[in-house]
Amino acid sequence: MKPLDLGFTVLKNRTIMGSIHTGLEESWFGFDKLAVFYAERAQAGVALIVTGGISPTFSGRLSLISSQLSSLFQVAKHKKLVKAVHAHDAKLCLQILHAGRYAYHPFAVAPSAIQSPISPFKPKALTDKKIKKIIKAYARTAVLAQKAGYDGVEVMGSEGYLINQFICSHTNKREDDWGGSFENRIRFSLEIIRSIRRAVGDKFIIIYRLSMLDLHEQGSSWQEIEQHAKEVESAGATMINTGIGWHEVRIPTIASVVPEAAFTWVSKNLKQSITIPLITSNRINSPEIAERCLQNGDADMVSMARPFLADSQFVKKAMDNQSHLINTCIACNQGCLDRVFKGKRATCLVNPRAAYETEFPLLKSADPKTIIIVGLGVAGLSCAYYAALRGHHVIAYDAKNLGGQFNLACEIPGKEIYHETIRYYEAQLSLLKVEVHRNTKVKFEELRDIYADAIVFATGVSPRKPDIDGIDHFSVMDYEEAIKNKSTIKNKVAIIGAGGIGFDVAEMLVAKEDDDWYEQWGVDKAYRNRGGLLDKVEQKKKPLEAQDKRTVYLLQRKDEKLGKNLARTTGWIRRLTLRKAGVKMLSDLSYDKIDDYGLHIVHKGVSETLAVDHVIICAGQVSEDALYKRLREIGQPVHVIGGAKKAAELDAETAIKEGMVLAYNF
Ligand code: NAP
Ligand code: SF4
Repeated sequence: MKPLDLGFTVLKNRTIMGSIHTGLEESWFGFDKLAVFYAERAQAGVALIVTGGISPTFSGRLSLISSQLSSLFQVAKHKKLVKAVHAHDAKLCLQILHAGRYAYHPFAVAPSAIQSPISPFKPKALTDKKIKKIIKAYARTAVLAQKAGYDGVEVMGSEGYLINQFICSHTNKREDDWGGSFENRIRFSLEIIRSIRRAVGDKFIIIYRLSMLDLHEQGSSWQEIEQHAKEVESAGATMINTGIGWHEVRIPTIASVVPEAAFTWVSKNLKQSITIPLITSNRINSPEIAERCLQNGDADMVSMARPFLADSQFVKKAMDNQSHLINTCIACNQGCLDRVFKGKRATCLVNPRAAYETEFPLLKSADPKTIIIVGLGVAGLSCAYYAALRGHHVIAYDAKNLGGQFNLACEIPGKEIYHETIRYYEAQLSLLKVEVHRNTKVKFEELRDIYADAIVFATGVSPRKPDIDGIDHFSVMDYEEAIKNKSTIKNKVAIIGAGGIGFDVAEMLVAKEDDDWYEQWGVDKAYRNRGGLLDKVEQKKKPLEAQDKRTVYLLQRKDEKLGKNLARTTGWIRRLTLRKAGVKMLSDLSYDKIDDYGLHIVHKGVSETLAVDHVIICAGQVSEDALYKRLREIGQPVHVIGGAKKAAELDAETAIKEGMVLAYNF
């Protein structure tokens, strides 16, 4: 992307590192690690950091072990974070988050006893007394945060958590002062702000994260959003942050399929209605986009969370006009949110040091070595980068160009951004003076006779060729061929294998270039209905008109739901996309043969012929490790990482991490 000529003059001091839960909040010595994590970002110029969500009460914890701040003894560990951030002149706000019915435990509470579709626990309806107690608990947490030295708090009022549950009539069926009319439903949020303001005085920052686009049929109307924002300001908030969507709503809001800065128009709509500073957020991942939002007047500040996991130096690099050196967040969620949902510590797929800064400090090796790397897919690139960063002399070869399998991923609609990772490594390798030999297939004899302290094989994978009668028929191609030649693919296609790549290929085949993302997902930028949704009746007409001519079968042998093992935060988007496009997903089958009539299968015991033009093989991969094994036999100091080490269930996150870990071992 071309940087703006204006430079990042507006962006300076207007960047907020948004709340992101790392899991360190709950782990042993986690606050010490969290302090280093925040300090690295504060030192690089972030103006204000918002912590991960901390509950004001036991019932409000996201899980039973989640962090809570409600007692004096808990203040000490928070002081560590404050000290680390203040040492670099940045501000730190504690996010107060009460999960309400999203609490993943049996003690969940909510305005009404209505279970969320994404939780197995039915919440208890709060009594009037308990509601007042929770409001007091918010104020108590804010006071404790003030004691710890925080500059302020962010009150989480969006994404479908407790406050949002009070505001929405779908989750609030109360008939007392806290339910019924809109005025009653926003009473809870306003009382929280007022009680915090009373308790902490005038100077303490209160950011209120306001749900500006619920994407829920019974969400707020635009008029109500404006009314709420004005009252939030009057109640004593210092700033308003933009919240988009509810976690339970099946419309993507932060995944890579969502266009960049897709929701800043919502913030802009509100800007004229309030006088306090407004923060915008969601899918802003580069200084250029952030700057453009500020220049456009969409908001006064920009909040980014995941981009600061991907690159702690984001702001500094932008200010130094080095945005080409930024490690861009590719919005995959794999290293961050998906890990948190599995109860693991968050990190980042493209930056495995994130939240592991103490384990992988940026120190030079005391004993610089000569390292040869064969293969520059993401595993090799990561190893080359970290080895060079640590002061080793790195010589790297690739038989093609840089990027390996990421070059294929870039061709998939919604994954174009994966190019940025290749761009990042390319720029870093050049800066670190790594000797890169492209289009160079290095031979056994050369590596046999070469001197090096270590030779790293990151030679990747090749597509598996399954043993099916007719596999060499002219209609058959593997996924690499299919992705590289997508424009030549005809209308009837069967895909063998429904793993991540089978889904990728299916999405590529059904994607339409002129698709309007908002229309596709039912989002109405004119905000004519509640929740900012398009009229359902209108929408139903659309898919019929736009029906794709292509017939795509996505197939797997296992008798289980297709895409069952796709990632938690993005798998549902991928399944829904294919369902909407009419892809025929079949499981519990075997492959009989491929011939001029098509692909012959036995599906649930019944023989069937799928009359297709192409059969695309997405049946996993095999390791490219022959050279590694030959050199190992003659005693060369070889190492193997990524797909060359283990092709089964290989993913980019593991490959990049393996590259880094090995580089730290030299
Ligand atoms: P995969 O996830 O292992 O899937 C392979 C598919 O091929 C399975 O559906 C399997 O199902 C089928 N299969 C395996 N052996 C077969 C055989 N001999 N004959 C016919 N079918 C066979 O592999 P992948 O799709 O190539 O993905 C590779 C890795 O990249 C995975 O770890 C994946 O997570 C990652 N990836 C992730 C994404 C993402 O968006 N997160 C995207 C792409 C890739 P049956 O055995 O039931 O037929
Ligand atoms: Fe961004 Fe993916 Fe890293 Fe999360 S794991 S911060 S989504 S690149």
